[in-house]
Amino acid sequence: MSLLVAESLEKNFGGVRAAKGVSFTLEAGELLAIIGPNGAGKSTTFNMVGGQLRPDGGVVRLAGEIITGLPPRLIWRKGVGRTFQIAQTFVSMSVVENVQMALISFHGETRAVLPATARLHREAALGFLARVGMADVADKPVNELAYGDVKRVELAIALAAEPKLLLMDEPTAGMAPRERAGLMELTATIAREHRIGVLFTEHDMDQVFAHADRILVLVRGEIIAAGTPDEVRADARVKQVYLGEHGVEAALRARKARLAQAGATHPTAEAT
Ligand code: ADP
Ligand code: MG
Repeated sequence: MSLLVAESLEKNFGGVRAAKGVSFTLEAGELLAIIGPNGAGKSTTFNMVGGQLRPDGGVVRLAGEIITGLPPRLIWRKGVGRTFQIAQTFVSMSVVENVQMALISFHGETRAVLPATARLHREAALGFLARVGMADVADKPVNELAYGDVKRVELAIALAAEPKLLLMDEPTAGMAPRERAGLMELTATIAREHRIGVLFTEHDMDQVFAHADRILVLVRGEIIAAGTPDEVRADARVKQVYLGEHGVEAALRARKARLAQAGATHPTAEAT
């Protein structure tokens, strides 16, 4: 049984059909990327899975159970996690306290008295921080961390709710390319090790093609191609509709042109 099954999801916003019969499956431990131009319906699809949007049609199943239209908090409790930005109010708290808060919330202890919360779930929180390589900065305030490290803490917070499925809508937005690769590698390692399914979107095609097990290509609310990175790269419609215009191919052409130019003036320039 697939971890996640989306069947014929439909969503209309006034005259805009943001999702037209979107169907896909996702297995435990798998990284599935949704790519497509701006406005293709990627976030809409995420939000229908996470419960932030109620689909106009179609069904979402998590491990066989229909979760369509349930409130986000219930869907979260059933094992669908999301990485959210740490709220501004929490950035002055320490790294480990942020993860402890997530654990307190997940274990339904929100009324725990404050003096006791200092130690509550601290060990478990440190364990989640260790998974993302952040245990050594546990007692630093979040606002002293580099941006890429904050993203790792946000991942630890999502993991604290022991998700079966993790939704990551542009997780590496605003990050430098090296940090992006690091975060995606870490996500992939954790997902495979703990059998967590990951559904993600990402503008950086290098990251998508390097880390996704499978890729869905969404254009104007419709999946026009799905498959392994090699299959998607070779798909004629993808080249025509998406990659040819905006993505990999254009980027490769631009890179070749740039290097050819650099080679003309600097003969020692790397020729790859
Ligand atoms: P993507 O994430 O792929 O960029 P979205 O899912 O955000 O695309 O948007 C898909 C389409 O639906 C776009 O045309 C967008 O303008 C429209 N849309 C998304 N959310 C809303 C909303 N809350 N109200 C009205 N239109 C929306
Ligand atoms: Mg979006």
